[in-house]
Amino acid sequence: MPGTEPLAIRLKKSESLEIDWSDGQTAVYPLRFLRRMCPCASCCGERDLLGRQLLPVVKTSYDGPITAGGAELVGHYALRMIWSDHHATGLYTYEYLHELAAKIPAGGPAPTDGRKSGSD
Ligand SMILES: [Zn+2]
Repeated sequence: MPGTEPLAIRLKKSESLEIDWSDGQTAVYPLRFLRRMCPCASCCGERDLLGRQLLPVVKTSYDGPITAGGAELVGHYALRMIWSDHHATGLYTYEYLHELAAKIPAGGPAPTDGRKSGSD
């Protein structure tokens, strides 16, 4: 059934994005997962207008923990995340976010991804 909408959106800027959906589920998206699933062309290698598959560009030059500088609503259909690596072009539509809810990796929010506490 189309039209599932977020009833509440809670951003924990160093941890996760939580959405209460109108279908009753609450989804907790670890920020690192959301960042990796960024739907924009430069992150996922969307097809261009001619249908050519663009090479995915995985920007891993940013070495720090991924946090969110903020999020803003775009119209009534999408959320734009502003990331700590200054990436802010990905629009997460509610439809996409709802799909992602089924793909959230198990194990709880904000895995440290093996990054040892460094000397920075
Ligand atoms: Zn992106």
